[in-house]
Amino acid sequence: MNEASQREPPARRNRRKREADLPPYVQGLFVTGPNDLNPAVVNNVETLSNVPHIIRRGEQWFRTLGTPDTPGTMVLTVSGDVQKPGVYELPMGTPLQELVFGSAGGPPAGRAVKALLFGVSNPVVTPSRLNTPLDFGSMQKIGSGLGSGGVIAYDDTTCMVQVAHKLSEFLYIESCGQCTPCKFGTNQATYYLHKLVHGLADRHDLDLVIEGAAMAPHANRCYLPVEHSLLIPSIVHTFADEFERHFMTGCRSCRQIAVPKIVDFDAAKASFAYARAPMTATNSRVSSESSREVHHVRFSRGRRTP
Ligand code: SF4
Repeated sequence: MNEASQREPPARRNRRKREADLPPYVQGLFVTGPNDLNPAVVNNVETLSNVPHIIRRGEQWFRTLGTPDTPGTMVLTVSGDVQKPGVYELPMGTPLQELVFGSAGGPPAGRAVKALLFGVSNPVVTPSRLNTPLDFGSMQKIGSGLGSGGVIAYDDTTCMVQVAHKLSEFLYIESCGQCTPCKFGTNQATYYLHKLVHGLADRHDLDLVIEGAAMAPHANRCYLPVEHSLLIPSIVHTFADEFERHFMTGCRSCRQIAVPKIVDFDAAKASFAYARAPMTATNSRVSSESSREVHHVRFSRGRRTP
């Protein structure tokens, strides 16, 4: 036993050991024995809200909604560049097109959909995938995922470099810093995207964005850096031409993009209120590269190497 674990209170140490040896999602919260499985399903409100209906009407009724692999309905929140942003409950398997154009009214008049994000935890979805059924299996087949049903729509005036930068920065800030590769990797990707936004980056910097994203999920305690490693490279690869066009010019003529962080819903106007998130980098060239710090550290098998 090392010195740190000797200082840990016995109760906490025992609990940690028990959770490691007998995880709640396998054994249950109240452990009765290694062969006595009683898994605890810790679910969210949306899942629990289905329970009374299933008990009252039966499992077979529930399975009449949705698809065989994803029965029931899902609450989907659509924000960003759509005419009717809002929260919509739809049967699983509803085509993505119906959500974006039917429920949410499609992009503003005269505009086209450019990109759709399912939260910040899955690879970007392009309009060529609008006929995809919204269920877990189908979204996985197109290389993305449903996440928790939060959809951000971007129209064809959107600068995807800024989108990548703002979302990378968001995940970097949210990274709690317990796991060094997570904090350093998300920081590295954000730093080089920041350079790109300001027209100070070249192809090598773009490689360093990808390297930072790949570094982040090493020895991770939670899913955050995995989200980063899925999302950011997917945007860079999908919109590679757009990223290359920013090498010299940056975002001087791009529309300002902010992360659509919902803080309220105005029922009278049927629209979301978003947090004011001023861009640190838009429409003006910065000369200083020192406004952010980046640490060049490489990790191999979770160990820090020079
Ligand atoms: S992996 Fe999770 S726990 Fe570890 S630093 Fe990142 S956010 Fe924190």
